[in-house]
Amino acid sequence: MDYYEILGVSSTASAIEIKKAYRKKAMKYHPDRNKGNKEAEEKFKSAAAAYEVLSDLTKRQIYDQYGEEGLRDTGYGGPGNAEDIFSNFGDIFEDLFGFGGSRDSRQQRNGPEPGADLRYDLRISFMEAVHGVNKEIEITRPDTCWTCEGTGLRPGYQSQTCSVCKGRGQVMRSQGFFRINSTCPQCQGSGQIITDPCQDCGGNGLVNKKEKVSLKIPAGVDTGARMRLQGKGQGGRRGGQPGNLYVIIHVQEHEFFQREGSNIYCSLPVSMVQAALGAKIDVPTIHGTRTVPIEKGAQNGQTITLPAEGVPSLRGSGRGDMYVTLQVMTPVNLSAEQKKLLEKFAELGGEKNRHPEEEGFFKRLLNNFQ
Ligand SMILES: [Zn+2]
Ligand SMILES: [Zn+2]
Repeated sequence: MDYYEILGVSSTASAIEIKKAYRKKAMKYHPDRNKGNKEAEEKFKSAAAAYEVLSDLTKRQIYDQYGEEGLRDTGYGGPGNAEDIFSNFGDIFEDLFGFGGSRDSRQQRNGPEPGADLRYDLRISFMEAVHGVNKEIEITRPDTCWTCEGTGLRPGYQSQTCSVCKGRGQVMRSQGFFRINSTCPQCQGSGQIITDPCQDCGGNGLVNKKEKVSLKIPAGVDTGARMRLQGKGQGGRRGGQPGNLYVIIHVQEHEFFQREGSNIYCSLPVSMVQAALGAKIDVPTIHGTRTVPIEKGAQNGQTITLPAEGVPSLRGSGRGDMYVTLQVMTPVNLSAEQKKLLEKFAELGGEKNRHPEEEGFFKRLLNNFQ
């Protein structure tokens, strides 16, 4: 069986000539057109077998050098496998019957293509988030090439219809019983090939552009907030609208303040004496210093609420609250005099250094560690 002879081409035939020849044979001997004709069926099968080998550069080389036997020896198998026949047939199926994308979808593929959305992650400080801030960021974004208006074509030149998919943008393959449309590998689905690309964008239709973008970040933003900058995404192709730029806010943590929604939390160290006697303490808030009255007898862990000293609400008006948790500090490094005074203080309160019950408790505790 000479594959070249079967297809009626010379041994130096080009890939296109081979495809054309196979197409002719397949149309002529297709089982649908030759119902019950055994001879046509055989010819259809052998044409498919020949095409399977000659359309594959590797297989064709082996066949040219070593013949059919060579194909078998190198693991490419003998031709004639039924599934292969139809997979090859599927390759040019659309050529025969005009399957593939409709004209409408083709129009769309060559029509305006909107740009993709872009993302930019922006870190801002805690205070910037609380009070709002104006930022200028520099981004590099793929913008529409205005030399070719995003067509990728050198001005004054035309694109060519893709020879692989004949402009349909899709090729059809068969997998066993099923026929599957897939994007044309040559034109990536556009149906068109640019033979004279725009020199500014290399045919891409987009050029990278550095741009400074001003951001007005409102007071009250928090991590995860998303700002949309219309039209600052990737540029459109062929007159398509540009995408949007989404700036995602990441707020850094603060040394003293914690934030939950629009409320602010912090802990305030107060001395034992301040807690016991009461005091007025200057407390930093996010809006400045406030004098906070500590009532006498304040306890460790007690929380004082400062209304409306929290974060401004992003929507509408108002602010959250601030919650100050007292942290009563026990004095350390006492001088001899301080120590004496504290002992006196304890005595006056009827307090001994250790309560007898407590004594027992500590003994038991220590025993447990021995
Ligand atoms: Zn261009
Ligand atoms: Zn194509």
